[in-house]
Amino acid sequence: MRELNVELGERSYPIYIGEGLLTDIAEIFARHQIAQKSPLLLVSDEQVASRYMAPLVETLRTAGYTVVPAVVPPGESSKSLAVFEQLITTALEAGLDRHSTVVALGGGVVGDLAGYVAAAYMRGIRFVQIPTTILAHDSSVGGKVAVNHPSAKNIIGAFHQPELVLYDLGTLQSLPPREVSAGLAEVVKHGLIWDEAFVRWIEDNSADLLALRPEALGYALYKGCGVKAEVVSRDEREHSLRAILNLGHTIGHALEAVAEYDELLHGEAISIGMVGAARIGVALGADEEVYTVTKRVLQACGLPVRLPAHLDTDAIMKAMQHDKKFKEGRMVFIVPTAIGRVEIRQDLSAALVRETVDRLK
Ligand code: NAD
Ligand code: ZN
Repeated sequence: MRELNVELGERSYPIYIGEGLLTDIAEIFARHQIAQKSPLLLVSDEQVASRYMAPLVETLRTAGYTVVPAVVPPGESSKSLAVFEQLITTALEAGLDRHSTVVALGGGVVGDLAGYVAAAYMRGIRFVQIPTTILAHDSSVGGKVAVNHPSAKNIIGAFHQPELVLYDLGTLQSLPPREVSAGLAEVVKHGLIWDEAFVRWIEDNSADLLALRPEALGYALYKGCGVKAEVVSRDEREHSLRAILNLGHTIGHALEAVAEYDELLHGEAISIGMVGAARIGVALGADEEVYTVTKRVLQACGLPVRLPAHLDTDAIMKAMQHDKKFKEGRMVFIVPTAIGRVEIRQDLSAALVRETVDRLK
């Protein structure tokens, strides 16, 4: 088992990564004083619940917990105020009190939703994350929890740190291949912004990662969470440094907005976005290798590196200008200067960005 501590101001919490952790959950909960007397709300989505919920409920009940299971439909649409309200109703009816804990068993959707329930219920109760996707390594660090408004993603939310994060690598074995690659995109991102050796390691071990070999997967999640924890601990409330976590996201979010629903997963869109950012980096003077390595490592992880040709450049440019990362009329771009190094630029010309988008096709 690997263990990583996320330090945030005066608080810190551990991320445990390993095999079979769900079997030992009662022991881990006891170590972290997760209250047994108060009911515990266990939130999951249908796809995850059908595989992992029953044994977990059983283990916790055997250990003396009163578990209240709550299963939501899979997908982004569950990150809504309506589902949030249903969960609050369930919590109220089950008698959750201020010593209760909300446990999120699932990917980033369940984590963000359940985390927001924990943040809001009685002005905040304890929260535990059990991420079951690779992508959720990103959402398990930083304390951002949220639901969506029909016209804006993640706009209703809070900062609420978990008590602990428990990554059981066994639960990741059932991930569909496309979700595996999409999750790896954020892992690669954490390497590209911070740690050249990690980027090289990902490239060398991509086959093991795609095959979900526990040793490689555990290390990748440990390193990915570690970079995010480092960046976030230096800038908890998003003043400056934290912006580097948006590498690939300026173009990526625009692609998500313009592409048909489900054509591009988030990780796939930011993969293309990171290739674009690398191209911009080279145009601004970085070594050509920044582009070639970025592209190679993403491809090795089974990710797209080219823009679907039918996506319209004008529409993409327009979507970028609507992004919240647009400050005072200027696009904020995270631009690689070397492998493992980036800078925050607000002075890029629209012409350079447009040319880059065109060349991605
Ligand atoms: P997700 O939770 O929707 O999971 C993706 C799909 O995989 C779902 O259909 C789910 O049912 C299925 N699934 C999950 N675990 C599985 C498993 N072990 N086996 C089989 N199927 C499984 O999506 P995600 O990609 O994990 O997360 C995306 C969400 O995370 C977005 O809403 C995004 O906004 C959020 N996010 C939040 C932060 C943050 O800082 N809070 C950071 C990044 C992303
Ligand atoms: Zn992202």
